Amino acid sequence: MASVVNRPPEKDCTDITPPYTKLTQNLAFVQQKILKDKPLSLAEKILYSHLYDPREYDGGIVRGETYLKLKPDASAQMAILQFMLAGMPTTAVPASIHCDHLIEAFQGANKDVKAAEISNKEIFDFLQSAAEKYGIAFWKPGSGIIHQIVLENYAAPGGLMLGTDSHTPNAGGLGMVAIGVGGADAVDAMADIPWEIKAPKIIGIKLNGSLSKWSSPKDVILNLAGKLTVRGGTGHVLEYFGPGVDTLSCTGMATISNMGAEVGATTTVFPFSNSMYSYLTETRRHTVAEEALKNASNLKADSNVHYDQYIELNLSEIEPHINGPFTPDLSTPISKFAEVVAKNGWKDEVKAGLIGSCTNSSYQDMSRVVSLASQALDKGIQPKGKFFITPGSEQIRATMERDGQTEILEQVGGKILANACGPCIGQWKRTDIKENEENAILTSFNRNFRNRNDNNPNTMNFLASPEIVTTMIFAGKLSFNPMTDALIDKDGEPFKFQSPHGDELPHQGFADGNEDLEPIITVGNSSTKITIPENSSRLQKLEPFSPWHGNEFKELKVLVKVKGKCTTDHISAAGPWLKYKGHLENISNNTLIGALNADNEKINVVKNDLTGKDGNIPEVARYYKENNVPWIIVADHNYGEGSAREHAALQVRYLGCPLIISKSFARIHETNLKKQGVLPLVFKDEKDYELFSGGDIIETVGVVGLEPGKDVIIRVKKHETDKEFEVVTKHTMSKDQIEWFKMGSALNLIANQRF
Ligand code: SF4
Repeated sequence: MASVVNRPPEKDCTDITPPYTKLTQNLAFVQQKILKDKPLSLAEKILYSHLYDPREYDGGIVRGETYLKLKPDASAQMAILQFMLAGMPTTAVPASIHCDHLIEAFQGANKDVKAAEISNKEIFDFLQSAAEKYGIAFWKPGSGIIHQIVLENYAAPGGLMLGTDSHTPNAGGLGMVAIGVGGADAVDAMADIPWEIKAPKIIGIKLNGSLSKWSSPKDVILNLAGKLTVRGGTGHVLEYFGPGVDTLSCTGMATISNMGAEVGATTTVFPFSNSMYSYLTETRRHTVAEEALKNASNLKADSNVHYDQYIELNLSEIEPHINGPFTPDLSTPISKFAEVVAKNGWKDEVKAGLIGSCTNSSYQDMSRVVSLASQALDKGIQPKGKFFITPGSEQIRATMERDGQTEILEQVGGKILANACGPCIGQWKRTDIKENEENAILTSFNRNFRNRNDNNPNTMNFLASPEIVTTMIFAGKLSFNPMTDALIDKDGEPFKFQSPHGDELPHQGFADGNEDLEPIITVGNSSTKITIPENSSRLQKLEPFSPWHGNEFKELKVLVKVKGKCTTDHISAAGPWLKYKGHLENISNNTLIGALNADNEKINVVKNDLTGKDGNIPEVARYYKENNVPWIIVADHNYGEGSAREHAALQVRYLGCPLIISKSFARIHETNLKKQGVLPLVFKDEKDYELFSGGDIIETVGVVGLEPGKDVIIRVKKHETDKEFEVVTKHTMSKDQIEWFKMGSALNLIANQRF
């Protein structure tokens, strides 16, 4: 491992160093006594070492079957509102709050943060007061994006972390099992309640070779997303190993881990490596690096481990990829992309290039981008559209500024945005196009569902590495391939970019940045009053949901049969709606507004069966609620993919939906539904989906006496013909989850157990 001289002062690593001795003991017990010395994958080692009580698993642990009760080591408006219902004085594990999703990108970093501090004052005051009361670290607006801050400060090899965002697996780049969950799951960890998950299956991905000049870690995951598709990782951990791992930077591995969420994976994990050691040391956590080094044998898979699926990738053969539009798994190697553009008849123009975000704003990313921007600057070539750069944290921003990177990016016309999510979460006050104008943008973000970045359904959003995004905004053409094509410089001469190069870590170490953006850390103060203004339109105390009535459901009306992709963005849109995240009643007005109704092929239009008139989905749902008509959703495959946004579950529950039937669910959303007391049912025969339409009346047989693995029958009465039939559905509810359902929500159960 590299030795580092003149390290800056260490951070206090007491709470962030995993308790390796205890973890090793737990793991030894599970591996020797329960699994009879079976070779284990890295993900299994980390998960099993965090079992709440390893002795509960006498019967063995089977991937894909056994529910694990885990105790995370560490880590939002809705999570806090729910934690308040749990009635705890402080959090049981270290936790942090990050104000990253509410800063609109418009005039540049400083002005945008100031504007957000004014427009979101009540939210930030609420979060800060809750952090003070419960002893949670509070990261102010402008300090950075949660996953980058976690990588820089909290992630540690061999640790287990929950985060209330789907890209929490970013910390897998530092060897951690980090899982995206809803706020209610985070409340489990904060309240010292075992957190439950079905033991995931493992996809082993062996990396050979090393990346060629133009390729970057982003291209590994863009390529893999094309192979696995948005559902291919469901129920699995992606576990990388092999000689190629040692050629990757820690932040590059974080990029790959971050975007594992796009294939539906539970998380991604990399074995402990030299680059992790160096990154930990450079981010002033040498103690963690040393402790991890001592425990290195447990921070990699055993040899001869069996993987449920096995993929081999030769990094040397991976070329840059461009994925999209509208789905992250539509993957095209750059050498074929011009053909795709021509074949689809897309306008050959790039309107904006956006780099950075939690996924790709490392020092390495930025220094490689700057190596390209410098070439363009020398040749007098300007970006042909908007060029935005989002640093992931204040540490990165300050280091970029100190090392002259910012100056070069600004000289070529780039605009540095706030250290926040900004356009990645739809907080982009876009002024360069007309409303709903068809256009194409490239981003180095991780997600590209329709409407995601600018609320324009006609923006085609493609994902690529920061290097490729940068060259393409200088070219202004979708068909441009920097590896083969030339631009014309200021003298009218052809100019070809040299391949990018850059430093993995800054030679002078990371800069500290603005000390006003340091986190506020408190031990918890029970006398602090949590600030929720009276009559606020943006914050509202949660009321517990009613428990299950104890009978079969009868007279449930199908509100909508959803066709095709229905992500959490479709169920609970972001962008302008984010300001209502702390107010369940108000944000519920966006419920399913992006969903396509299979009956009429229209988005957000359903028939109100009580009035006979068409209306938008939330309006009709609310009408049913006010008239005491419970309703359900019938959905297609992978319902609820995308963001961990638990509002997508809370809102349907709030508006009166006790169950959803789909062809399949995305993992996080399925759990979120369970946590909020909604029963997620899956067609045993997916063809039965075709039999339903809006307005059908259903009743259940099997909810009374619900047990793990026991089917639920759905009796259907067609609303137009009165024809009746039955379909069979299955579910994945564990014994404990059935208790959540009975109590009305997981939180009701926690609160019940406490009082
Ligand atoms: Fe990362 Fe974008 Fe999510 Fe923010 S919104 S955490 S930048 S993926």
